[in-house]
Amino acid sequence: MSLLPVTLYGDKILRHKAKKVEKLDIELITLIKNMFDTMYNADGIGLAANQVGSPKSVFVVDISPVKEYSKFEPMVFINPLIIESSEETIGYEEGCLSIPDVRAEVIRPKRVKVKFLSSDLKEQILEADDLLARVIQHEYDHLQGIYFTDKISEEEQKKLKKDLNKIKNRKTKVDYPVSEKGIY
Ligand code: ZN
Repeated sequence: MSLLPVTLYGDKILRHKAKKVEKLDIELITLIKNMFDTMYNADGIGLAANQVGSPKSVFVVDISPVKEYSKFEPMVFINPLIIESSEETIGYEEGCLSIPDVRAEVIRPKRVKVKFLSSDLKEQILEADDLLARVIQHEYDHLQGIYFTDKISEEEQKKLKKDLNKIKNRKTKVDYPVSEKGIY
């Protein structure tokens, strides 16, 4: 098992747009394995590559720890593209391994259709709703350099500013390995 340090709010890579994956090689396979290890160790249900310091367009999801989804099989999304979003939206409280101890309700489309490559680089199309749609959109946003806290009202953002600065300055206690300030 290899744990990678999780990048935190303020790390530049979390504002970068991810780079398209061109080939399946040992580097990519290792990255994906390590992303799962890192996500499980931190009790996360989704993780994007820039959250472990990689610029690749990849995220992993496993929502099986959530009661109603216990049958869910872990999924890898490579070069994902959301091709449809429902008009119907829904609010849900989100958190993020890169923004520890901060939660806020985010309104997002209830359903999405996403095109992506699976871990064998075969093209897939998935229609997702509710929690899965939520996690896919959250991780997809990471690959565009967007935090969930960008999606809340300015007023709410102001309230979180202090906490976000604490995270940026590594003043928040986190019980999984995190990046050193300034490395990413
Ligand atoms: Zn996140």
